[in-house]
Amino acid sequence: MRIVLLGSPGAGKGTQAKVISKKFDIPHISTGDILRNEIKRGSGLGKEAAGFVESGKLVPDRIIIEIIKNEISPDKSKNGFLMDGFPRNLEQARMFSDLLDELGIELDKVININVSKDEIVDRLSKRKSCSVCKSVFSIGNNKDLEKCPECNGDLIVREDDKKEVIKHRLDVYESETRPLIDFYADKGLLVNIDGSGEETEITRRILKVL
Ligand code: ADP
Ligand code: ZN
Repeated sequence: MRIVLLGSPGAGKGTQAKVISKKFDIPHISTGDILRNEIKRGSGLGKEAAGFVESGKLVPDRIIIEIIKNEISPDKSKNGFLMDGFPRNLEQARMFSDLLDELGIELDKVININVSKDEIVDRLSKRKSCSVCKSVFSIGNNKDLEKCPECNGDLIVREDDKKEVIKHRLDVYESETRPLIDFYADKGLLVNIDGSGEETEITRRILKVL
């Protein structure tokens, strides 16, 4: 199964990706998680990417494509994969199509998770994530929550979940990423999913179309 998840920041891609990748036993490839790990490790790639990620800008395509090539090598993803946060613009989508052609494989579905802009802003400004297992939590009125309920790791507010950066990431989504909806609709791969409501309900909606 080869799947791409599309959706605005805060649409719930990461949360859904975890469940789906487990269900189909395919790797969850989150370019955001990979970049944050590289930044934390202080690797060369991390140093190159840090400024972009922290200010909510897209990391240059050539860096992203290198990451993806490495992640979908035949030994790592023989059952397929689930892309979360990639592709992020038309250039990446075209390079991705070329790469898949070279490997002689095809995407099965592109799932677009739709959530209204008001809800997105609300969710992003309330979110904390686990520095260990990467689970994302909406802290709501539980602002003092400091430990991950799942693994007891430290919960952190992502650098790019600060207010000014959120606005910028949403603008980048509108201008760079939203056009991918048409790109994949034209290829006959797109399925729209209503991303409002309970996480488990959204998972059910996605599993129904896979
Ligand atoms: P979100 O979807 O909530 O914005 P991600 O974890 O997917 O969060 O991405 C966080 C940041 O990592 C982005 O704002 C961007 O700087 C960088 N990034 C992630 N994926 C890509 C990509 N495919 N191309 C360019 N930059 C990316
Ligand atoms: Zn955790």
